[in-house]
Amino acid sequence: MTARLIDGKTAAEAVRAGVAAEVARLSAAHGLIPGLAVVLVGDDPASAAYVRSKGKQTVAAGMRSFEHRLPATATQDEVLAVVAKLNADPTVHGILVQLPVPKQIDPHAVILAIDPMKDVDGLHPLSAGLLASGLPGLVPCTPLGCLYMAKTVHASLAGLEAVVVGRSNLVGKPVAQLLLRENATVTIAHSQTRDLPSVCRRADLLVAAVGKPGFIRGDWIKPGATVIDVGINRVPTQDGKGRLVGDVAFDEALQVAGAVTPVPGGVGLMTVAFLLVNTVRAACAAAGLPAPTI
Ligand code: NAP
Repeated sequence: MTARLIDGKTAAEAVRAGVAAEVARLSAAHGLIPGLAVVLVGDDPASAAYVRSKGKQTVAAGMRSFEHRLPATATQDEVLAVVAKLNADPTVHGILVQLPVPKQIDPHAVILAIDPMKDVDGLHPLSAGLLASGLPGLVPCTPLGCLYMAKTVHASLAGLEAVVVGRSNLVGKPVAQLLLRENATVTIAHSQTRDLPSVCRRADLLVAAVGKPGFIRGDWIKPGATVIDVGINRVPTQDGKGRLVGDVAFDEALQVAGAVTPVPGGVGLMTVAFLLVNTVRAACAAAGLPAPTI
């Protein structure tokens, strides 16, 4: 069997097109232009590249983009002061502080300081609590991308055996909550799970969010299963440039799975697209408008 590829580029373009259409409608009907502020502390080149790409995509969708750069030596108080200013700014509907932050800054303190109404990364404990309670709220972007991709394969996830490998607040736990909300039967596996290959082999839908290159092997995958690979790992190459690979041994998965997301070109592209979706949702909530259907 050769698995079908779930193409992140096409999926992300479709989501962004939906965002742009909704932004145009909100602007025309209500004079509402959603605004996203990104805070970057330090000069990590990968983080700076992400922030640039977020800014470009925000503007391309017809939204306002705000960028705040602080030096790597910034204190926690300085970062919190920027967050407080953005919390008070009515043209800013979404705030994202690019993680990781330098070690003198406590990321939890920063996340807690963000107004939950503007928490487009979905990392505030209030957002996590709303998701766990099955109530509407802002959900982390990468998990939303995983769900979208799974739904390109399965019209309904109800009753599917879903296994999520990884339990981070950023990916594993919210993915599991979203799958539960869709009525899948969900197992969350982690570093203490016994006989992980057997647990994975139960899955009709396998989500890998581990952070270890090629960790999930082909013979851990149930024939025909859908595999969503969240991992983004840089591995060395002979030319010294390195290349990105996922948490799943991709060539092996292709032989067994029914559908699989590639890395790169898979889940990674969905994250920014859903950041835009979350910003539009936050803008609608702030304006007292119904939640958009994108
Ligand atoms: P994380 O916070 O490091 O969490 C990794 C999880 O994997 C932990 O729950 C850990 O279990 C589990 N794990 C580690 N070793 C394991 C093992 N041997 N067996 C089973 N489980 C194991 O990472 P993350 O933030 O969730 O990110 C995971 C991956 O996704 C990374 O490659 C990251 O770069 C990527 N990522 C991609 C996107 C995107 O846009 N596509 C976004 C975010 C993250 P314990 O809890 O027991 O330690």
